[in-house]
Amino acid sequence: MSLDRIAVDGRLIGMPASPGIVIGPVRILLWEVPDVPMVEIERDEVPAEIERLHDAVEKAKQRLNQVKARAEKHAGPEEAAIFDVQISILSDADLLQRVENLIHQEISAAKAFDLVMIEWRQHFARHTQPMIRERVSDLTDVQIRVLTILLGLPDHDPVDVPKGSNAILVTHDLTPSLTVQLDREAISGIATDAGTRTSHVAILARSLGLPAVVGLRDATYKIHAGDQVILDGSSGVLIPNPSQAQIEAYSDRAAREAADEAELQSLIGAEPVTLDGVRIVLRANVDLPEDAEFAAHSGAEGVGLMRTEFLVVGRASMPDEEEQYRAYTKVVSAFDNHPVVIRTFDMGGDKLPVGGYPTEPNPFLGWRAIRMCLDEPELFKVQLRALLRAAMHGDVRIMLPLVVTVDEVRQARRLLEEAASELDARGVEYRHDLPLGVMVETPAAALAADTLAHDVAFFSIGTNDLVQYTLAVDRGNANLASRFTPLHPAVLRLIRRIVEVGAHHNLEVSVCGEMASQPLMAFALIGLGVRQLSVAGRSVPLVKRIVRGVSARVATDAADAALHTQTAREAEGVLRVKLMSAFGNAPFLRDGLPDYVDGNTFEGSSGP
Ligand code: PEP
Ligand code: MG
Repeated sequence: MSLDRIAVDGRLIGMPASPGIVIGPVRILLWEVPDVPMVEIERDEVPAEIERLHDAVEKAKQRLNQVKARAEKHAGPEEAAIFDVQISILSDADLLQRVENLIHQEISAAKAFDLVMIEWRQHFARHTQPMIRERVSDLTDVQIRVLTILLGLPDHDPVDVPKGSNAILVTHDLTPSLTVQLDREAISGIATDAGTRTSHVAILARSLGLPAVVGLRDATYKIHAGDQVILDGSSGVLIPNPSQAQIEAYSDRAAREAADEAELQSLIGAEPVTLDGVRIVLRANVDLPEDAEFAAHSGAEGVGLMRTEFLVVGRASMPDEEEQYRAYTKVVSAFDNHPVVIRTFDMGGDKLPVGGYPTEPNPFLGWRAIRMCLDEPELFKVQLRALLRAAMHGDVRIMLPLVVTVDEVRQARRLLEEAASELDARGVEYRHDLPLGVMVETPAAALAADTLAHDVAFFSIGTNDLVQYTLAVDRGNANLASRFTPLHPAVLRLIRRIVEVGAHHNLEVSVCGEMASQPLMAFALIGLGVRQLSVAGRSVPLVKRIVRGVSARVATDAADAALHTQTAREAEGVLRVKLMSAFGNAPFLRDGLPDYVDGNTFEGSSGP
């Protein structure tokens, strides 16, 4: 497949992000600041233009009140509070005065409003107080709303889709905060121009069980609102205005996938053990507390990664200790006494915290994850206290993201002790002996894993970030998707190194990145000596099928050979030959494999 994902027979080819085939009408979502042309007005038009401004602001406020009422109903008062902030921005006398001043200089209301908002956003983004910086995204939302009205553009309210629409949302990009607000009874699939399999929109779509295709590049231009489309989230294809024959072919394929899914369900109670008797521990990744129940019924033996930042994204305020305690307890209770590994806030990168943070020049190399938590100890300790308390209900283990030095672990441990003393002072019950582990997701942590080993209880390899940082390939950049190759020898060698250090220090090593859920790569990981995998609840039976169908000895031989190849593609070839000897050319073996720049090695991966 060439780098250009051009339409073939009218099909748009993107990347498979969340499996499933759906057919439905398109809903285009354009939530971007529109381009505003510079329009000069005549002096005698000034009063009417000022009136237009005030009308538009009033209409925007009315709309915000409606949206707020809906958010209150669906998501609760905390989520809805964000709209109060936006309404108060629109009531700011200074803001409106500045816009009026520009209109008096004979600039159109739209351009005047646009210029003042750009100025305010820059001013807020540079502010020393985080609380003010957090308001930048509210300003952007307000800017979009008012300009949409002034320019007479269609209202693309992100979450305003009626229930039962069965709509397929087509958008340039979807932030996690928008994704968590989507009404699953209204939306049946997601297609985005941007993104890759490991961007967080894809991860969330899989958690929500919403079929998704990402990285389509220009679908928002090629597809029109109301068009009928087929979305095939398993092979990453979108077909606008399909023929009857295409609808029939894809419906057949959907039926075959459903039958395969039903067969997989029979594995839920089976033990994940290889043909030669090696026991693999299979746990679930839980992104939202509501997923826990489903994950617990997938056959997972606990949670290998709970991504807590999804409790925070898109919110008007941080969840307090009680709310977090309830969320963690919900997950812990769903899993009886199985281990539940809860990761402390991994905000930043493409997961923006409350209100969103101002854009950093390099967000993935920026103030994120453990760095942010250590710099905001009061915020961090709220989470640590909630975790210590939730541990009263089960086997909670704490995991720190993006660690690069042992100092971070030690500092976090000190804060954990402070959090415990604070609970002592309040006389609240908690458990103190929680294991503290780290994610190994940077080349620094992998190469120097031995420097961390004495201070941690376990390693969990975050391959999504490890691949991104090792290969210097942005995990969310659709233009680089073919270069995001987890089977690159550098990545395989780092994983092998982490496994060796873990074995030497008697530490558990698991993999919780997306690599673990892709059949060929799960096979490689077993071969590299990984004995614990954590995958989306929906993927647990699929990975179990791989585990039960291979022998660890064969996997080890295949991984050894892959380690000695020169390229990811060669490594894939070596692994595939071995895996095919167990499964033939079963279609599910293609799941999640990258399309290499010069051609995908599997035939026919984009048709029914
Ligand atoms: C990873 O980086 O592999 C990981 C599991 O964490 P996240 O995808 O949330 O960054
Ligand atoms: Mg990560």
